[in-house]
Amino acid sequence: MGIAYFPEIYPDELIYSVLARYYVQSGYPAYIFCAEDVFADKKVRPDIEFLNVMRLEVLEALFKKKSMAVLVEKHTMFPYYARFLPYERRNRAFEALCSMGGNYNNLLAIPKQKNGEHRYLRYCPLCTEEDRTFYGESYWHRIHQLAGVGICPVHGCKLLNSSVIISGKASPNLVAAEQEIKEMDIIYGNEIEKQLAGYVCSGQAFL
Ligand SMILES: [Zn+2]
Repeated sequence: MGIAYFPEIYPDELIYSVLARYYVQSGYPAYIFCAEDVFADKKVRPDIEFLNVMRLEVLEALFKKKSMAVLVEKHTMFPYYARFLPYERRNRAFEALCSMGGNYNNLLAIPKQKNGEHRYLRYCPLCTEEDRTFYGESYWHRIHQLAGVGICPVHGCKLLNSSVIISGKASPNLVAAEQEIKEMDIIYGNEIEKQLAGYVCSGQAFL
């Protein structure tokens, strides 16, 4: 089908999220047709936190706005996982991501999930409302996916789970936030949770 239109990537948006918006907005009859246009390997499981090897057309559409280095720094979870790594190893992981190759999962020492415990893509109901007002749609933010942080560092309310599993074995798909977010319960976190969120997010490229 080819890439005729590609959406703008929003601030702090995961690359997965902009690809999911592209899929929904392009009117593909099924996911696999989109995967053929977007990924070098159409059978790949879309990487929610980082990125997959993408086709040249998609990269060109993304590069119109940002360089690969900026995409990795601002639109993947790289800064979060790399923050305590030694310089040399951090650089190797960064290079691996920028070239979309190499084993960045090992370099970044991404913790394995405990037995049967899943992490889900999360969202803040107030950020969602603001995004809908400002952009006309919501999207998946990086800042809501930091392991161990349960509240939105901007609004102080609890992050809610979507049904999209981050590291599961579900069949490959791209799910846009706008299709997925329905519940909008606003529950504020306590002081300790707020401090933790502020602490984890400060000193990183997230806020
Ligand atoms: Zn928020």
